[in-house]
Amino acid sequence: MPSSPRRVALVTLGCGRNEVDSEELAGRLAADGWELVVDAADADVAVVNTCGFVEAAKKDSIDTVLEAAQLKGNGRTRAVVAVGCLAERYGETLADALPEADAVLGFDDYESISDRLRTIIDGGTVPAHVPRDRRRLLPLAPSERQAGTQHIPGHIPGHVAVPDLPDGVAPASGPPRVRLSAGPTAALKLASGCDRRCTFCAIPSFRGSFVSRRPSDVLAEARWLAENGARELFLVSENSTSYGKDLGDLRLLETLLPELAAVEGVDRVRVSYLQPAEMRPSLVDAITSTEGVVPYFDLSFQHSSASVLRRMRRFGDTGRFLALIETIRVAQPAAGIRSNVIVGFPGETEDDVAELERFLIGARLDAVGVFGYSDEDGTEAAGLDGKVEEAVVRERVERLTRLADELVAQRAEDRLGETVDVLIESVEPDGTAEGRAAHQAPEVDGSTTVRGGRLVVGQLVRATVVGTDGADLVAEAVA
Ligand code: SF4
Repeated sequence: MPSSPRRVALVTLGCGRNEVDSEELAGRLAADGWELVVDAADADVAVVNTCGFVEAAKKDSIDTVLEAAQLKGNGRTRAVVAVGCLAERYGETLADALPEADAVLGFDDYESISDRLRTIIDGGTVPAHVPRDRRRLLPLAPSERQAGTQHIPGHIPGHVAVPDLPDGVAPASGPPRVRLSAGPTAALKLASGCDRRCTFCAIPSFRGSFVSRRPSDVLAEARWLAENGARELFLVSENSTSYGKDLGDLRLLETLLPELAAVEGVDRVRVSYLQPAEMRPSLVDAITSTEGVVPYFDLSFQHSSASVLRRMRRFGDTGRFLALIETIRVAQPAAGIRSNVIVGFPGETEDDVAELERFLIGARLDAVGVFGYSDEDGTEAAGLDGKVEEAVVRERVERLTRLADELVAQRAEDRLGETVDVLIESVEPDGTAEGRAAHQAPEVDGSTTVRGGRLVVGQLVRATVVGTDGADLVAEAVA
């Protein structure tokens, strides 16, 4: 038996869903006696929770594993293990290509993560994950999936009182959770997987079919998060608009939102990953008129040319998307609306790009992510004809990014004089505070600098917008 507890560091890449998964892994490890450390150099084993969505994210993940691997033999670090979407998606292929990683584990290894890591640092080997299409692991009929016994990362069953757990570990009847950041915002999983078939996307193959978490589990975890410092709950999934479809209620999100907002200690609830094709008036109403739910719409339009959207196996066009945005802004003019778009999709013409520019100009979104198309292994689009040359894709990304930055800056200027509620996330020694207004989600939508007042992290402060810098705002705290 080691004289001191074994130490593990979790390095999380990718999105809010990965953040939740890392906290589940941390909870399991802490509950089994591991000491959690922040710096991989202080750990016996560094666990890199990878992202496998697109090329750039894959490269970041591999670079991070290589970086951690350089620590081995230079101090305490004895092993580096890859988990997460890239590991799940490529498994043994990744292990063969990346010998610097001591193991490549899949989602099915999460329940036994402590044993896996112990075997590795005791000099044993753990076979690399063998990827498979996770959609085949659950019944086709959504209503039959709840009975599935497959462990789904981050789906932590309801929290019940369990005595004598180490500080900071969430009591739960299933896998515990540990908060790895003390910030005022916490990601909370609503569901996992996706039943849509967008031709450019591989996510359903490695995250599986759509499965909702039971409201009681989501609420129990929300209470625990609030007791542990979360003021804003950032609801994540692959497709939040489908929440409840496998629980017999397609409008379950409209019911759950006010319940989450009523959790003691929670100031804000934010929904992410909304599918335009599944938006409905009752959901627009719930998000724009429920006390404690921020009027924020993360709508991934991806494009607005009808012909390109059809090749993506997606619904919609410029007219219908602008009508949806109009419906939202009539309900709440200050609502935040963000989106991602892909340019350079196979078959995209200059007319299609012009159509997308027309949409962005009409939409005046608060934040826009512009991505260049690239073939993804195992996707339908990888086999499509009409591939756009890489140089043309790059040129279109630059052109649309310039346009989007200009429009987003104008939209921010529209907010001059507006009163916003800012959740403070950091305070400088000179008192300058940084945070996010209701239309700004973590990491992707810009931030707000608040002047005036002695502010603290986690405080929700009312302020008047007095300046802008691109998507960022500057605001004066209202006395
Ligand atoms: S909605 Fe489309 S893009 Fe999003 S996860 Fe599902 S298949 Fe992928």
